[in-house]
Amino acid sequence: MPLLQVNNLKVHFPIKSGMLSRVHASVKAVDDVSFSVEQGETLGLVGESGCGKTTLGRAIMKLQEPTAGSVILDGEDIAKLSGGELRARRRKFQMIFQDPYNSLNPRMTVGDIIGESLDIHKLAANQDERQKRIQELLKAVGLDPMHAQRYPHEFSGGQRQRIGIARALAVEPRLIVCDEPVSALDVSVQAQIINLLQDLQKERGVAYLFVSHDLAVVEHISQRIMVMYLGKVVEIGPAKAVVHSPKHPYTQALISAVPVIEIESKRQRIVLSGEIPSPINPPSGCPFHPRCPIAEARCKTEVPVLREISAGQWAACHLAK
Ligand code: SF4
Repeated sequence: MPLLQVNNLKVHFPIKSGMLSRVHASVKAVDDVSFSVEQGETLGLVGESGCGKTTLGRAIMKLQEPTAGSVILDGEDIAKLSGGELRARRRKFQMIFQDPYNSLNPRMTVGDIIGESLDIHKLAANQDERQKRIQELLKAVGLDPMHAQRYPHEFSGGQRQRIGIARALAVEPRLIVCDEPVSALDVSVQAQIINLLQDLQKERGVAYLFVSHDLAVVEHISQRIMVMYLGKVVEIGPAKAVVHSPKHPYTQALISAVPVIEIESKRQRIVLSGEIPSPINPPSGCPFHPRCPIAEARCKTEVPVLREISAGQWAACHLAK
């Protein structure tokens, strides 16, 4: 059984207008998305901004109420949980953010930020045990345990991300949703945080859903990659296959825009014409058809379904082969 199973998940935001605030349309941020994450696996999630990847991460964390579908974590549908039941299950899934500074209370010491998670879930029997756990966690993420009394502003950006990771790890989660965790950091610091996440995964068997717009980072850390466009999954498969032999024209265009990979494969750069269409009124048929360089007449009317094109690699395109 997979650790996480997402079935037909939809997150639609109603758009209201007029004196009576009638709903006249909806933004389909996540539209009928299904996938799974295995124990201890990293699934990379990529797409341009506005494709729905952050909303999907938030819906899995139940920070965003889904419109329809189920999110089954460890055999339990968390979309149906609320109140105390949800709080108790929160231990199993945690999130780390792009800007750790905004998610760390500036008036709390780092020790108390980490200790708060231990307190909520009653994971330390007494003060001594609490202190010991805090020190262990700081050490595990490469910070000096003696710095537990310092405040977030006394740390660099990379160190603050390490604090965010220590706080997430405090409750021994099974899954961490990493939302652009290295996008705000310098390249050299990015590599340190990625290495730390990989080491922690080896030691603790935690799974990651790694959300990023940076394909090179995602290829490095993920076993599988999922590509989203306008709220839908357009391709999913083994990381190497998706990056080096993409099947969907949108994935091909995304990858051709990454300079390092372009040099490696001598692949021609595919420049997509036009902006991403609005998710309020997505195009008919294949949502990618207005920008697709190989679109045919049927692409305007027939919605492509995800099909397995090669071992474990699925794409939603009529012409993929
Ligand atoms: Fe392009 Fe048609 Fe494939 Fe959509 S279904 S990606 S428009 S070829």
